[in-house]
Amino acid sequence: MELNERQEKILKIVKQHGPITGSNIAEQLSLTRATLRPDLAILTMSGYLDARPRVGYFYTGKETEEVMTSKIRNILVSEVQSLPILIKEDTSIYEAIVKMFLEDVGTLYAIDEKRGLAGVISRKDLLRGTMGANDIEKTPVSVIMTRKPNITICYPNDLLIYAANQLIEKQIDSLPVVETQDGVDQVIGRVTKTTITRVFVNLME
Ligand code: ADP
Repeated sequence: MELNERQEKILKIVKQHGPITGSNIAEQLSLTRATLRPDLAILTMSGYLDARPRVGYFYTGKETEEVMTSKIRNILVSEVQSLPILIKEDTSIYEAIVKMFLEDVGTLYAIDEKRGLAGVISRKDLLRGTMGANDIEKTPVSVIMTRKPNITICYPNDLLIYAANQLIEKQIDSLPVVETQDGVDQVIGRVTKTTITRVFVNLME
């Protein structure tokens, strides 16, 4: 169930000051007790608050279930995405390895001359690139990267839960966040397994 703005405020007050009487809550919101009555009734009936005679309202701790679920469901990719690390597709495998270490990331994205997404380079792609007869200072990453149309992408307005599902389903570590401008897929962010873990920890805190 979605709470309205006033109900969220009431919940916050009761969390901080409960047990607290209806009149005291009304005072803090500069409203009358009568105005608050329907909101308090909804919060009590739906289990967020409990009320004891002569004691007042107190918080039941229900947030951990429904409210958390609806918060998680509503997070957009744009709210949590991090910065992408981009390299040109003609960068050598050697340079890409150095870049990966310097930037401390697990995935690089390759861009073409129009600055559009051209490929994804993971740690294992680079490891594979160092095996065999490749001269890694001369061989470009375009030889080893996963390229379009095989790249799984997401958009800033996608739900984070969609991106998380893609990471699991495709068994990959990250998704480039793409915005199409003048027909070019510009990489404006990335969503990684770390992104999801950070959101999870923040919500718990
Ligand atoms: P690692 O290879 O280091 O385990 P990943 O699991 O992310 O990292 O990558 C596995 C393979 O999937 C690699 O070949 C990589 O190029 C490819 N890959 C990674 N991310 C994507 C993506 N968003 N779309 C398509 N392929 C990807």
